[in-house]
Amino acid sequence: MYTCDVVIAGAGIIGLSIAIELRRAGATVAVLDRGEPGREASSAAAGMLVVDDPETDPKLKPLARISASMYPAFVEELELRSGIKIGLENRGTLYVAHGANDLPADPLSTADFRTLEPGLADLSRACFLEEQTVDPRLLVQAVLATAKNMGAAVHHEALVERVSMARTRDLEVRTTAGLYSTATFVNCAGAWASEIMGVVVPSRPVKGQMLAVIPSGYDLRHVVRSREVYLLPRRSGRILIGATVEEAGFDKTVQPEVIQKLHQAASSLVPSIGKAKMIEAWAGLRPGSPDGLPVLGAGSLPGTYVATGHFRNGILLAPATAAIMSELIQGRQSQIDILPFLPSRFSGNRALAG
Ligand SMILES: Cc1cc2nc3c(=O)[nH]c(=O)nc-3n(C[C@H](O)[C@H](O)[C@H](O)COP(=O)(O)OP(=O)(O)OC[C@H]3O[C@@H](n4cnc5c(N)ncnc54)[C@H](O)[C@@H]3O)c2cc1C
Repeated sequence: MYTCDVVIAGAGIIGLSIAIELRRAGATVAVLDRGEPGREASSAAAGMLVVDDPETDPKLKPLARISASMYPAFVEELELRSGIKIGLENRGTLYVAHGANDLPADPLSTADFRTLEPGLADLSRACFLEEQTVDPRLLVQAVLATAKNMGAAVHHEALVERVSMARTRDLEVRTTAGLYSTATFVNCAGAWASEIMGVVVPSRPVKGQMLAVIPSGYDLRHVVRSREVYLLPRRSGRILIGATVEEAGFDKTVQPEVIQKLHQAASSLVPSIGKAKMIEAWAGLRPGSPDGLPVLGAGSLPGTYVATGHFRNGILLAPATAAIMSELIQGRQSQIDILPFLPSRFSGNRALAG
């Protein structure tokens, strides 16, 4: 039997970011992952830190703003502690609208968006958004190295099966790598969070497919996004094109015809991308919740907590989530309003039965 103050299920961006905050507070922490840490949704993400998108739920915007404002310090600390350069960028986003009332900011004149992004198709309506981007694969490497350097024990191939109350009133966490005794358990198992017995979480997988291309002849300067598709330039010269939003269970198959459609949709925004060579395509499973909002707070058993359901925004929301969960676990009230995200909002909801 292993013993520590906090056991976290799931070594994605959420579980690892929380582990860092808890180590800072002096707790002993074990982060257990059923596979390789960081290899699921967190490595599949594009890395846009989206705050003002017409599709962002108004209830999420305050948390999104807080988390985006925490990002420069979050990245600076991770870079210092891990020695890994993460690549936080401030290129900004050109949001392209099709409908009349669809722009989240004042429209740019055609002359302005032509100057900003000469490769854009002949579109009538676009606006500029001050948004940051990050490379999630580098971010996850840095967060993993930082958690370890700060003394968190991170174990791979350790699937958490069940959490129950022990006679000592501590929690017993049964895993495929042995039994853990702990006062506190946090379910950060992403799309799989509902599979851990004893800690009820209404989460489900939402598949996202995307691709990367190497453009020839045109360097995209900004993120370009519409309701249907986005293009995100990386410093390496790659352009990421994403992403589908599919209810496909735990299927992570990459479908060539779907990837081709995404590529075509991207070239309707930036025509030269149509000729760009595809170098990689992949799929990931976002953690979805019944109302599309994160699920943050106390779990169904005393001493258990839940931090999942970050859906399309888990990279963005990691620093704020870590701060919130660390405060709650230390018995303090969160400085950030988490009322819209409490797990108890689903009480009586049939989704809880799963
Ligand atoms: C295609 C795509 C594009 C995206 N783009 C963006 C974006 O631009 N910006 C943004 O902010 N977000 C984006 N996201 C969303 C973001 O990736 C997720 O919200 C975020 O990664 C969720 O992090 P997580 O740690 O909860 O989940 P994950 O990274 O999936 O981590 C969960 C971990 O739990 C482990 N696990 C599961 N079950 C168990 C168990 N029983 N025991 C132990 N471990 C377990 C898994 O192996 C996994 O490593 C995107 C997602 C996808 C798929």
